[in-house]
Parts: sequence; structure tokens; C-alpha cells
Amino acid sequence: MRPIHAAELLSIGSELTVGETRDTNSSDLARALTEHGVEVLRITALPDHLATVRDAFQAALGRTDLVISTGGLGPTPDDLTRESIAAAIGEAPTVDADLEVWLRGLFERRGLPFPAANLKQAWLTPSSTAIPNANGTAPGWWVDALGGRVIVALPGPPREMRPMWTGWVLPRLKERGLGQQTVSMTLRTIGLGESTIADRLGRLLDRGANPTVATYARADAVDIRISALPTPTVSAADLVATAEAEVLDLIGDHVWGRGNATWAAAIDDLLEARGWRLALVEVGTAGAVVALLGEGLGDRIASAEALPADHRPADGGRLHPRKLAEQARHNSDAEVGLAVRVTTRGDDLAVTIAIADPRGTHTERRVAFLGGQQGRTRAALLAAAALQRRLTA
Ligand code: AMP
Ligand code: MG
Repeated sequence: MRPIHAAELLSIGSELTVGETRDTNSSDLARALTEHGVEVLRITALPDHLATVRDAFQAALGRTDLVISTGGLGPTPDDLTRESIAAAIGEAPTVDADLEVWLRGLFERRGLPFPAANLKQAWLTPSSTAIPNANGTAPGWWVDALGGRVIVALPGPPREMRPMWTGWVLPRLKERGLGQQTVSMTLRTIGLGESTIADRLGRLLDRGANPTVATYARADAVDIRISALPTPTVSAADLVATAEAEVLDLIGDHVWGRGNATWAAAIDDLLEARGWRLALVEVGTAGAVVALLGEGLGDRIASAEALPADHRPADGGRLHPRKLAEQARHNSDAEVGLAVRVTTRGDDLAVTIAIADPRGTHTERRVAFLGGQQGRTRAALLAAAALQRRLTA
């Protein structure tokens, strides 16, 4: 049996190509396949057009082990995925007696007459098997195509597609030997742009290499994902470990977490390791810091206060973040006081971060790119990063 190492996804439906519906199916499937070590070579969205879809199936079959489509399995004349697959594999669809009984039963149950148009949902071809659909009238198709390749056609509605994928398709694919034993890990970094990371990592980022090292810019981090396939002599885990050591060597001081760590979890771990609690004051941030850290810190937060941008101290003097951090620490009897103040500077935000802890008070000034909610969120990330550095130092 041909093992399944690579796949292509076809998202079929004119609602996708005119921009009416967002293609969530292919990202769901791509994530699941990647998790199982299958490389997704391509994702294509196609209109409900027989020749276009037929050609897409044929081309994909020529490149890969598995082609999964979603959409186009409805009863109406515009849903042409079955016709397209049949044309692509050169087979004629016929009504399957069992499927027809099941389908007619669905309508009887609801006391509805059976529309002739629905009969094509009972079609099969000699090399296709029906994939049961417990949530709709469209069974899917599993097609054993030439050369041990597989086509899987699933309906478009995610609430029908997902359980069919998880409950029926995935287990059968696993039986055939799905994917390769990929090992992967993610390092979460802050403080370096993607291009700087690329400069520093150099040849580690070479495409097509094993292990693969790739960067992903996310809202709260630039992630570096390292993944490897085993070679005849080295295990995937060893390849990842070696690459990880090289990455840490080059940019380790910017790594703040691993896997899907959140800032709250990272800070929580550091506080917990020292048995410390945090008192937080933020000014002009609309609560962005507590939004980033608050919930996740649970009872590691001794106090949290969000003050408006025009807040002034009781004595009418200037507002010093250093003083705020020290006061917050003192007033709530916490080991760490963090104060963050943002003020508008042109289109950006000037951010002052003060951290008071048993070793003294550290202050730094930074600029967060852009104002508004985006700038405030970036200011909160700068504060979290400063706190992380201080707690790690
Ligand atoms: P179908 O009758 O199988 O073509 O599926 C039709 C419905 O499924 C559409 O009206 C959408 O609501 C949904 N749908 C189809 N394709 C997708 C997709 N790729 N991602 C999310 N929803 C989809
Ligand atoms: Mg459709």
C-alpha cells in the first residue's frame, strides 16, 4: 500500500471564489495533516465548474498521494464534485442501492417527498466508497485511485465535514500509514524582527533542508518552528535537538517560551519559581497589560490598576513610573511592582516601563509602533518582555 506522505487540498465552490464564504475547511484539514506528518503541497480554491475541477483533480493526482476536496456534494446542478472526480478517474457514476435506501429514508423521516435532484447524492463509482454523513444528505467519497493514490471528497459545511474527517477518514488514513514520523518544536521569540532573525540564522533557514527551520510572525511573538524527519542514521528528535541548540546559540536571549506558551504562562512560571507575586499599574494603556497577563497569572497578581492617560499623582506633581512601581509593590506587599505608562508620540506610543523588585528598580523607555489598540497591545508586549528579562536575569 502506498504510504501517504504528501497531500493536496481542493476547496470547491463558487461561493469561495467570489469571496462570499471563507475557506476554513482547508486550514482545518491542513493543520490536521501537518500534525500527522503529511506535507500539504498545495491548497486550491475552485469554482463549481466541471472541467476546472476535473483538471484540478487530475493534476493533483499526478503530484501527490492524497487529494482531499471539500464542497460541491450538494444536490443542486451547480454541485459538480462527483461528476468531476468521475471524469478525472474515467469512471461512470451509478446509483448505489444501499445509499438510495438510506437517502430516501432521511426524507421519509421528515415526511417530505424525495426530490429527484437528490438522487445523485446516492451515486458511487466502481472505485469509490461512501463516507457516511450523520449530519446531512451528502455522503462523501473515498476513492482508491491508480497507483495507490487516494481521493477523499467531503461536503462543504464544516459541521458535516469535520466529524466525517475525524471519525471516518483520519482513522482509515492512519491504517494506511499516514505521514512520516515528523518531530517538531517551536521557540517563541520577541525583540527581533523576522528579517533580523533570518540574518542571524542564515543557512539554518534554507528551504527544503532537514531539519526545517522556519519563522512565523504572530501577534505575541515571532515563532521559530524546527521540524525534522528521521534519516537512516539520525532520529528526528536528535536532528531537532541539534538545530534547536544552534538556534539558541544564535538568538537564545530572545526566546521567551516554547510550543504554544502564552506570555501569561511564561511570566507565571517565572514568578512561581521564585515564589513572587506581581503588583501591576498601567497608565494610558486601556488595560492592555492586564489583558495580556492578568487572567493567566491567577493569584500571582497581587493587584492590578489601570489608570487613564491623564492621571496625575495626588500631590499634583509629575507621574513617575518608577515611583508607581515602587508604590504598587509596597502597597500590595508584592515582591515585584510593574508600572507601564504610554503617551502618544507622533503616530506611535512612547512606553515607559518600571520594574521594582528586591534587587532595586529598573526603568526603560521604548517606542511601540502605531497608536490605538495596536500600539497599546505592543506596549503590553514590551512590558511583558521587560518583566521576563528582569525575572530571568
Ligand atoms: P456543498 O453543498 O458541499 O458545496 O457545501 C456548501 C456550503 O458549505 C457552503 O454554502 C458553505 O457554507 C460551506 N462551505 C463550502 N466550502 C467551504 C469551505 N472551504 N470552508 C468553509 N465552509 C465551506
Ligand atoms: Mg457547493
